Amino acid sequence: SERLKLGLSRSRSEVWGKLSGLFSGPGLDENTIDSIEELLYSADIGTATVGELIEEVKKKTKEGNLTENSFKTFLFDFLKNKMAPVQEKVDHSLYTFDSSAPKTTKVIMVVGVNGAGKTTTIGKLATKLRAQGATVVVGACDTFRAAAVDQLQVWCDRAGATMIRAKEGANPSGVGYDALQAAVNANADYCILDTAGRLHTKENLMDELAKSKNVLKKIDPTAPHQILLVIDAITGQNALRQAEEFHKTLGLTGLIFTKCDGSSKAGSAVTIVEQLKLPIAYIGVGESAEDLDVFNVDDYLHALLG
Ligand code: GDP
Repeated sequence: SERLKLGLSRSRSEVWGKLSGLFSGPGLDENTIDSIEELLYSADIGTATVGELIEEVKKKTKEGNLTENSFKTFLFDFLKNKMAPVQEKVDHSLYTFDSSAPKTTKVIMVVGVNGAGKTTTIGKLATKLRAQGATVVVGACDTFRAAAVDQLQVWCDRAGATMIRAKEGANPSGVGYDALQAAVNANADYCILDTAGRLHTKENLMDELAKSKNVLKKIDPTAPHQILLVIDAITGQNALRQAEEFHKTLGLTGLIFTKCDGSSKAGSAVTIVEQLKLPIAYIGVGESAEDLDVFNVDDYLHALLG
């Protein structure tokens, strides 16, 4: 989409678009290959991925069949091969409302460190699903951040989603439980849970999130149906360690890659998906309600490479 193209423009102009511009004639000399390597590292592409890519480029140069055009095709195919096997696992029916499907409440738990974009993303997601005609209940389970809860309320009011917030002294897992109960009672199509992103210690946070997940099963043994980790593109390679921690505790089903418009590092999605073996469900390319796209590898790579 145009929004995706616009959102990835920094990554395209500062990194990926520059690569093919390095060709001055057929093939690539040592210096140019070094420049490619540097650009890829600056965009937070993982060491193994860069190494593999450079090897391929060298091989193709030797074979003498690398031109500016074939390089672009090569890059597209290389990156697609990294992502496609993992992305194929996404069940898109979970993210698109189908009013003719049997009525059930789908539970989406959204996790991530503070600042990654959880609140904003849930607001966008609620807006998107409401626009498709779905009914949405949002649970504001981050009882430690009053401001974030108020922010989420604004999003929910605008989207026409019902928000459930904590009663006096309630704990996060209690709010999640109440929200799911309210969603089931109302026969809502979606129950989206915002969660805490920071506690006194990492162990506390993980324990609390595990509790929040497990308590849902008292209402619906199959819930939550999706556990999505919000990752900020600017985090780059550090996102990997963060994600592994959440995955170990919760068994993530996918990722939401946010703030791709804010840096030249949107390409790091390739390494993150390949290494974690977790698909990206959504991509965030801005701060407003419509700046969230269902992730599609081809669209993403076209927008990234230009
Ligand atoms: P939370 O702490 O994880 O709930 O994060 P917030 O939702 O409050 O987001 C933190 C900041 O990032 C806010 O200023 C958001 O507007 C901003 N933000 C979130 N997603 C995006 C995005 O895709 N693009 C840009 N540019 N900003 C974003």
